[in-house]
Amino acid sequence: MERKSLCIATRNANKVEEMTPFLSQFWDVKSALDYPEIPDVEETGTTFQANADLKAIAISAALPVVVLSDDSGLEVDVLEGAPGVYSARYAGPEKDDAANNARLLEELAALGAMTRGQRRARFRCVLSLAKGGKVIQNFEGVCQGIIVKEPRGTAGFGYDPLFLPDGFDSTLAEMGMDRKNRISHRWRALQAFYIWCKYRGSKLLSEA
Ligand code: IMP
Repeated sequence: MERKSLCIATRNANKVEEMTPFLSQFWDVKSALDYPEIPDVEETGTTFQANADLKAIAISAALPVVVLSDDSGLEVDVLEGAPGVYSARYAGPEKDDAANNARLLEELAALGAMTRGQRRARFRCVLSLAKGGKVIQNFEGVCQGIIVKEPRGTAGFGYDPLFLPDGFDSTLAEMGMDRKNRISHRWRALQAFYIWCKYRGSKLLSEA
């Protein structure tokens, strides 16, 4: 049976790499990287859902396929939820992962947040499913953990070297993609999306 197309509404190659193995079981997966003619969408929202919706609406209005966008970031309790929706730009518009990690460690040190309890954090991912410029449904996934005191590991992206998920001794960057993909916020949001497809949106699944 011919597989339906699904476009991941992002040009973040790391997100595409993490989401494709799961989604490609059911869809012919494309991403915004395949459509350079579509302009970047400015993330002007103040919530993950608002930004996910902005990206999904803009890209699904330009393409005749189902679109799934991801907006995600890190929430640190002692920083009152920062960097949050500004995770990518925490240390400036260059979206430099190493600079973002350095700023996060500086902010925690400045507050004297040294115990595990003071370094509680979570990654949050909101997916927005859209077609023809309209949002159909949102899905959310969360991964709880703590911020370690120095970067560990080289896999992944963003704050992965600083994030130790609850119940594990390795940071997400020490785990590598396969292990990260069993527990991550993005993976959990994808599971919610898949369950919704099975029970509510089976037309979207290629085998339907
Ligand atoms: P977005 O592209 O606006 O959703 O920004 C996402 C930003 O949040 C990334 O640039 C990272 O800084 C951070 N982030 C989101 N998900 C992850 C992850 O899985 N690992 C590490 N950092 C992440």
